[in-house]
Amino acid sequence: MAALWIIRPGRISMVYNKLTPQQEHVIVDKGTESPFTGEYLNNKQEGTYVCKRCGAGLYKSSDKFDSHCGWPSFDDEIAGMVKRIPDADGTRTEIVCAACDAHLGHVFIGEGFTKKNVRHCVNSVSLSFIPAVKQNKKAYFAGGCFWGVEYWFEKADGVTAVSSGYMGGHVSRPTYQQVCDGTSGHAEAVEVQYDPEKISYEELAKLFFEIHDPTQQDGQGPDIGQQYRSAIFYADGEQKETADRLIKQLGKNGLHITTSVEPAADFWPAEEYHQNYYAKNGRQPYCHVRTKRF
Ligand SMILES: [Zn+2]
Repeated sequence: MAALWIIRPGRISMVYNKLTPQQEHVIVDKGTESPFTGEYLNNKQEGTYVCKRCGAGLYKSSDKFDSHCGWPSFDDEIAGMVKRIPDADGTRTEIVCAACDAHLGHVFIGEGFTKKNVRHCVNSVSLSFIPAVKQNKKAYFAGGCFWGVEYWFEKADGVTAVSSGYMGGHVSRPTYQQVCDGTSGHAEAVEVQYDPEKISYEELAKLFFEIHDPTQQDGQGPDIGQQYRSAIFYADGEQKETADRLIKQLGKNGLHITTSVEPAADFWPAEEYHQNYYAKNGRQPYCHVRTKRF
């Protein structure tokens, strides 16, 4: 019979992070950092607070609130990760890391700060912060031949990937031939992946309006047909609001915009030879030049 090992937090031998004397004073000797001095007191970033000593996840940024007491405050812990023990002073409740018993601070109940009515008052020194990994977002634009649209979006800072493909039609897995014949109803479109910390959707949409002619109906330059129509396919309400607002703004400037604003549907990547067309062929777009409109 195979041996069965049960590993419990706190009982396995852990490799702890090396502590500075100040960290050791708080974490091991149960000291308190001076109020209004801690590194994380006003940290509003999204992420997870982990134990400085063992790295166990203790608190989520979504549970952090401003108590104005001088130390980071949380109204909840990550389930099972924080242990409550009676404080040596006989009145307060001390909180420690459930995995390594590092001193964190104290917990108070019934102060009325938040709905949960709990305040974990935690020393910044006892914590390390791990920012949440930002997810790239996606945006979809159709503005004539996708080679040229892709070319321009590839050049934008904050854009991480651009693919050429088809969107807005009524058949699955359309081929280039079907799209060109106009039988599938799709527009040539690009999928733009971007880092919202570096470039906003509004900046992308403005770029879109400047790299094609949004006043031409069902075509771009010499490319005529509904597959070359101008369209913004929005992925959420915020994108739709931005698209509508920019179209209104251009209208006020005297442009009659034909761009349709439609909900994003299935994006069908185009055949490989269409991807990065101008970069692969070392040429410049014939139908897409940048014209300042904002
Ligand atoms: Zn710990």
